[in-house]
Amino acid sequence: MSYHFETLAIHAGQPNEALTGAVVTPIYQTTTFAQDELAGLGVAPPAYCYTRSGNPTREALEANLAALEGGRFGLAFSSGLAAANAVLQALSAGDHVVASQDLYGGCYRLFTKIFARFGVRFSLIDTTRPQNVAKAIEPATKLLWLESPSNPLLKITDLAACSEAAKARRIKVLVDNTFATPVHQRPLALGADIVLHSTTKYIGGHCDVLGGALIVDDEATYESLKFVQNATGGVPGPQDCFLQLRGIKTLALRVRRHAENALAIAEFLEAHSEVETVIYPGLASHPQHELAQRQTSGFGGIMSVEFVGGVERIRALIGQLKLWPLAESLGGVKSLLCHPATMTHASVEPAERRRIGIGDGLVRLSVGLENVEDLIDDLDQALEATRSSRLQEVAS
Ligand SMILES: *Cc1c(COP(=O)(O)O)cnc(C)c1O
Repeated sequence: MSYHFETLAIHAGQPNEALTGAVVTPIYQTTTFAQDELAGLGVAPPAYCYTRSGNPTREALEANLAALEGGRFGLAFSSGLAAANAVLQALSAGDHVVASQDLYGGCYRLFTKIFARFGVRFSLIDTTRPQNVAKAIEPATKLLWLESPSNPLLKITDLAACSEAAKARRIKVLVDNTFATPVHQRPLALGADIVLHSTTKYIGGHCDVLGGALIVDDEATYESLKFVQNATGGVPGPQDCFLQLRGIKTLALRVRRHAENALAIAEFLEAHSEVETVIYPGLASHPQHELAQRQTSGFGGIMSVEFVGGVERIRALIGQLKLWPLAESLGGVKSLLCHPATMTHASVEPAERRRIGIGDGLVRLSVGLENVEDLIDDLDQALEATRSSRLQEVAS
């Protein structure tokens, strides 16, 4: 019997515990497991021997995430970047990667500052045009790395078209599904081989736990990534796995409300005279609104905004807002405001930032689960209090 998403979120990988009947998977806070006898020579290895290699709380999380993404295997990591790192560690010097150009700043840094030193080469291209993917592929290309919607410009990549172009050349496709979540987008069904998550964001969802994950369907790919996971050790602790499992139980409810709130705020801001641009895939004004509608079942909780007055205006707004702390991260219950140029994308060189369109006047909003009228009222009062005419009044 196949269950719907909300049921899987609560049940997959989490049977009632055999010993006591506990309905919640316990936190197996142990590093090691006593073994009955020597393995080998006809004796199968034990299910658990050491927590870096396997832990029941982590396995519950891994099985759960696999079910939500529609893959057979999940692997949990200590952060989203630890998961990204593991994928790249499965490559070798001389291998080439084609990737979306406006991807998460930390992934860009991992590519250009770490793996480039070990001889992995990267081409960062505009993947919103699938024909660019075919053009960028070289004989040494092993991986296509896509992020959709992208961070922070919310560009949409046609995942099915790009996967097809890569598959024709036997290249593996990774999709960073952190922004969309499996509630709104299932990359494996669109042809991807590996789904990556920073579970720090919507999956954890409460701004209180770091984590990362990879989900795959192909067993050989799983085995190679599982080998890296154990050999390099970027695994999450059992307590962190528990917190993520707890977050996932309400993932569908939360993500739908994040998206509802975000659409209302995007519409409010787009109509506001003190706002220059709102980039949100749910708005008809988004250049890829139709693709977003086709590829995802919702538009998510993240938008980017440019206010009249640029960086000075942003400084003033930060001082006025009560419900929108200036903070890194996204996807949690609490609304957050972030300035990509100096925060999440500070590790991208200024010239590269300009090339891909991350201006100094751009603000990213992660819309939380507060009452949406309160969130809008707060933005409204801050925009009103920081009108350029008023700022001059205050100054004079
Ligand atoms: C945050 C983020 C990451 C990195 O995850 P961490 O958990 O912070 O290491 C990767 N990709 C995207 C899209 C992110 O937002």
